[in-house]
Amino acid sequence: MSWLLLAWLMLGVLLVLMLWQTHRQIEARERDVLEQQAQVLRQQMQVDIRMIYLGLGKLMERLPDWQQRTDGAQELQWQLQTLEAAVGGVRSVSVLDADGIVIASSRSQLVGLRSATRDDAVRRRSSSSDFLLVSTPIVGALGRPTVILSRALRDAHGAYGGAVAASIEVDELRASFEAVRYAHDMIASLIHGDGNRVLAVPVGTDESQMGTAGTAFAQHQESGKASSVQLGTMRPGGKQRLVALSTLSTLGPGDALPLDRPLVLAVGRDWQAMFAPWRRELVVVLGAYLLTLLVAGGGMLSAGRRSQLAERQRAQVQAEAERLHQMLERLPENVPGMIYQYRLDADGSSRFPYSTEGVREIYGLAPEAVREDASAVLARLHPRDLDRVLQGIQESARTLGVWEDEYRVLLPDRGLRWVHGIARPQRVEAGGVLWHGYIHDVTEQRQVRERLDRLLRNVPGALFQIQLHRDGSKRFPYVSAGVKSVYGLSPQELYEDAGRLQARIHPEDLPEWLASTVVSARDLSLWEQEFRVRLPERGERWIHAIAQPERIHDDAVQWYGYAYDVTEAKQQQLRLEATERQLRELAYVDGLTGVANRRHFDEQLQIEWRRCERSGQPLSLLMIDIDHFKHYNDQYGHQQGDGCLQAVAGALRTVLGRAHDLVARYGGEEFVCLLPEVDAAGALSVAESLRTAVQALQLPHASSPVAGVVTVSIGAASGVPREDGKPADLLARADASLYRAKSEGRNRVALDGA
Ligand code: GH3
Ligand code: MG
Ligand code: MG
Repeated sequence: MSWLLLAWLMLGVLLVLMLWQTHRQIEARERDVLEQQAQVLRQQMQVDIRMIYLGLGKLMERLPDWQQRTDGAQELQWQLQTLEAAVGGVRSVSVLDADGIVIASSRSQLVGLRSATRDDAVRRRSSSSDFLLVSTPIVGALGRPTVILSRALRDAHGAYGGAVAASIEVDELRASFEAVRYAHDMIASLIHGDGNRVLAVPVGTDESQMGTAGTAFAQHQESGKASSVQLGTMRPGGKQRLVALSTLSTLGPGDALPLDRPLVLAVGRDWQAMFAPWRRELVVVLGAYLLTLLVAGGGMLSAGRRSQLAERQRAQVQAEAERLHQMLERLPENVPGMIYQYRLDADGSSRFPYSTEGVREIYGLAPEAVREDASAVLARLHPRDLDRVLQGIQESARTLGVWEDEYRVLLPDRGLRWVHGIARPQRVEAGGVLWHGYIHDVTEQRQVRERLDRLLRNVPGALFQIQLHRDGSKRFPYVSAGVKSVYGLSPQELYEDAGRLQARIHPEDLPEWLASTVVSARDLSLWEQEFRVRLPERGERWIHAIAQPERIHDDAVQWYGYAYDVTEAKQQQLRLEATERQLRELAYVDGLTGVANRRHFDEQLQIEWRRCERSGQPLSLLMIDIDHFKHYNDQYGHQQGDGCLQAVAGALRTVLGRAHDLVARYGGEEFVCLLPEVDAAGALSVAESLRTAVQALQLPHASSPVAGVVTVSIGAASGVPREDGKPADLLARADASLYRAKSEGRNRVALDGA
C-alpha cells in the first residue's frame, strides 16, 4: 500500500516540476518578445531622432550665412519647412534667440512666442551645441502635448546665441507604440530621463508617476544597462508587470551623439494576465491528479482488507475519498474546455459516454445530447477539417497512439472557433476503442500568433523558435512568414516537417552548420552562422542567422532566433576581398615583368636572413644586370627594351624551381635572386643556369660587342648570416661581384671572394 502512496506522491512532484517548468518557459518567451518589441521601437525612434539631430546641425551650419544675406530670411523659412516635412512626428522647426523667443519658424504663427520652460532655457545656456537637448513634456504652443528637441547655438567664441529646435507632437508617436502591442494587457510607453512620462498606450492608461521611485523605470535606471527586463510596476501601486525597457541615450553604435538626458522606452505585460492560460492548465492538471488519487484510493481499500493497519485506516481513507469525490464532481465545472470519454464501436457508431459540462462551450451541445450518439458533434466540425479529424481518429484507433489535432468548429451562437484536442485510446470489449481526452478552445492563442505574424510581416527575414530533441528530431513551435523569403519555405511546410529546412542548406556549408548547432546545444552558447542556401526559385543565397538556445528539458533544447538574407552584403564583401587581394598583389608584384618587386624582395631578404641566422644555414644572393642595355634601348627603342626585360624575367623565373627561391626586379634592368639554404657552390651553379637561360633566348642585340644577343652578367655572394652582420652587407658583396663580372668581360658569373 505504501508504494502506491509513494508513486502517487512522486507523480505529484513530477507534475509540480512540469508546471514550474512551463511557468518558466512562458516567462522566458515573454521576456524575449517584450525585449524584441522594445528594440523595434528603439530602432524607429533612433532613426527619427538622428535625422532631427543632423537636420538641426545643417541648419546651424548655414544660419550665419542666411542671417547675413538679404534674401536669407526666405531661404531659411523654406529650409525650416523642408525639415519639418522630412521627419515624421515633427510639428515645427524653429530658431530661438538667446531669450528663448522664436525668431523664425516653419510655422509663422509661432514667431514672437516664448518656446521654453525655465528649465530648458537654463540647460541650453550651459549646453554644448553637440548635444541634443530633450525637453520635459509640455503643452505646446499649438495646444497639444509636445517634446522639444534642440541644439544650442554658439558663436565662434563659444558665446550662447539661442537655439534651433524641433517640436514633436507626442500623439504622432502613438501609432508606432500601438503597433508593438500584441496582447490586450500590454502597455507601451516613453518616459523622459527626468521621470516624466511622455506617452503611454493604450489610451486611458494611467500615465502619472511612471518615473518615480520603486517603479520598473527606476529599477532599470539603477541597473545602469541600456536595455533590461524588469519585474515591477509601471507606477506606484500599479499592477505587477514584466517590463522590457530600453534607454535611448546614444544614437547608434559607434556614434557618439548624446542626448543630454535619456529617453526610456518601456513595453510591459500584466504578470497576472500573462499566466492566465497557465493557471487554467494548472486547474486541469490538478484535477487529473486528484482523479488518480481516487483510483489509488480504491487500490488502498482493497489492499487494506488484507492489512490490520489499513483496516483501521479504512474509514478515514473512505471519508477522504468521499470528500475528493465531491470535489471532483464540482471541479470539471471550473475547468475551461471539456474532459470526456469518446467511444468508437466496431460498427462505426460513436458516442461520448462521459463528458463534462464544457461540451456546451466547445460544441454548443449538452452532455446528454451526445451520450448515445456523437453525430451532433461531428456536424459542428468545420467541413474543411472534418475529414482530417476523422482520419486522425481512425489512425489512433488502429495504432492506439495518442490522438491530437487542432481544428475549427462552427457554433450556432459563437461562430467559428479553433479548438485543440488530445486523447489517449484503449481497446475495450467487442472491438471498440475508448478514448479519454481533453479539448479546449485555442482561438485567442491562434489570434496572438496571427497578430504576431501580421506584426512581423514587414520585418525582413524570419523569426523562429526551434526545438531539437535528443533523438535528433526537430520541430518549429513558431516561425514567422518571412521564412519564405529566407528559405523559400512557408511556415506551414516547416510546421509539418522541420527537416525540410536542412535540405535547403548548401552541401558545402552543411557540415559546419550541423557541427555548430551541436556545440550550441551542448554549451547553450549563442549560435551564429553565415551560410549559403539553395532555393528553387532564387538560386544560391547567403543567410546570416543568430539564435539563443535554452534547455527546455533533459531531452530537448530550444532556440529563439532570427535569420535574414545577406546575399547583397556578402557579395559586396567578397568583391571587396577580391579587390583587396589584387591590390596586395599590385603592392608586391612588379607591373612590367610580373616577378616580385623591390619592396617584396627587401622584406623577404630580412625574413630569410633571420631564418638562416637561427638555423645556421647559408643564404645566397645573385645580382643580375643586362649587358649593354643602354645600347639596346638606343637601337631598338624603349618599348622593345621593355619587351626584352619581360623575356629575361621569364627566363629567370623558369630556371628557379624551388618555392622559396625568389627572383625580383631590383630596379631598371637589374634583377636579384634570393636563394635560402644554398651555399656558394650552389649559388654559382644556379647563376650559371640563369646566365645560359638568358643567352638561350637568342634575343638579337646587334650593338652588343659581347655576343650579338642579349646576355646578362651575374654577381653572387653567399654566407651564413651572423648576428653581427646585416642583409645590406650581402647585397653590397653581390653588387661588388657584379661589377667584377662586368669588368672581366660581361656575360659571366663572378662570386664574391672567389
Ligand atoms: P652595362 O653592361 O654596363 O650594364 O651597360 P648598360 O648599358 O646596361 O648600363 P646600365 O646598366 O647602367 O644601363 C641601364 C639602362 O637601362 C638605362 C636605361 O636606358 C635602361 N633602363 C632602365 N630601366 C628601364 C626600363 O624600365 N625599360 C627600358 N626599356 N630600359 C630601361
Ligand atoms: Mg644597370
Ligand atoms: Mg646593364
